[in-house]
Amino acid sequence: MESLNILLENYDLVQDKRLKNRFFKHSDIIQILDSIRKNSNFHIREAGFSAENRSINLITWGSGPCKVFLWSQMHGDEATATMAIADLLIFLSDTKNFHDLREPIRNHCTLYILPMVNPDGAEIFTRRNALGIDINRDFHHQQSPEGRLLRALRDEIHPHFGFNLHDQHTGWSAGSTGNPATISLLAPSYDKNLNMNEVRSNAMNVISLMNAALKDSIPDHVGRFNDEHEPRAFGDNFQALGTSTILIEAGGYHNDLEKQFIRKIFFKAILSGLLSIAEKTYMLAGTEDYFAIPENKKLHFDILLKNCKLQSKGFSYIQDIGLILDQKVNNDFRSMSYSYRIADLGDLSHCFAYEEINCEYYTITEIKKIALEEPADLIIHEGTRVLLTIENGIISIK
Ligand SMILES: [Zn+2]
Repeated sequence: MESLNILLENYDLVQDKRLKNRFFKHSDIIQILDSIRKNSNFHIREAGFSAENRSINLITWGSGPCKVFLWSQMHGDEATATMAIADLLIFLSDTKNFHDLREPIRNHCTLYILPMVNPDGAEIFTRRNALGIDINRDFHHQQSPEGRLLRALRDEIHPHFGFNLHDQHTGWSAGSTGNPATISLLAPSYDKNLNMNEVRSNAMNVISLMNAALKDSIPDHVGRFNDEHEPRAFGDNFQALGTSTILIEAGGYHNDLEKQFIRKIFFKAILSGLLSIAEKTYMLAGTEDYFAIPENKKLHFDILLKNCKLQSKGFSYIQDIGLILDQKVNNDFRSMSYSYRIADLGDLSHCFAYEEINCEYYTITEIKKIALEEPADLIIHEGTRVLLTIENGIISIK
């Protein structure tokens, strides 16, 4: 763990500087692949094509008997893991630093890496593929070329371990810790009764050690994703087919909308998982530590306005107001527009936020009537002193 933390302190050495935000495209991935193509430690093949005929490429690295399959960005707007994979490729191609971390993986594992499963979705920064199909609900119907490819590759490789890499909504919290679930982990269930077998418990054991590694960097910011069986999803089905599958979801972190800090933590999660597999330490870990990870809850807002005195229909009453920062991709598909939505109203004393304002002694002026699911449109003031103005979801005075 020590040397993993040293690597994190020197992240500059492995961070792929070509990817600066979440809006990179297929052409950026091709450029990254071209830069490692001449390195004989990597084998790269065009494994298939998306609906709009963009290549989906499989990278193979390592010479060990334990096969590990990693795939990212099945959802085109979930880009954090692909950035972490780009960093992982730099780490794997490094010849100067971090031998003690890299060599066990090279000798004990063979990595099969499929970055950006959904390049058409990434092109316009949207979840589904170009046919409007959610690839991660297409395991059985096999209507998307991307889903067909992913399933065929699993059948071809027969991986022992799988890393299913996603982003989740930033409103998830790490249980009741008061923090967002910056990283969520799950060993998906292989049946609706959430049964256990060795395949699944191996995934849980790896997760126990990943969580232990993450604790140093982001204490109380790790959640355990709901394990309700999703019969259409790839993770659940890969688990059923005998690949110990680990889901990693990138959530939110304070002041990290572009997820550049989270990317680094995501890389640490992947690498700590790979190390526990390569060094077989997962065999000594227990599922108790997995179940001790707090379950994800939706308790986290971006802004929480507490004790707001409101008036309506002749009544005066007090409400907490929970605001979520919604993101909408702009027409250039390379930037976002943000606006605050009223996501909940009422007694939210059990909830948390990046920013909380106690409005007990302030006045709330409603520019537009406060209503659930509508953009926030209000002024918080103390006499003539304005503390916060949000107009049509956008903060104009603070
Ligand atoms: Zn996803």
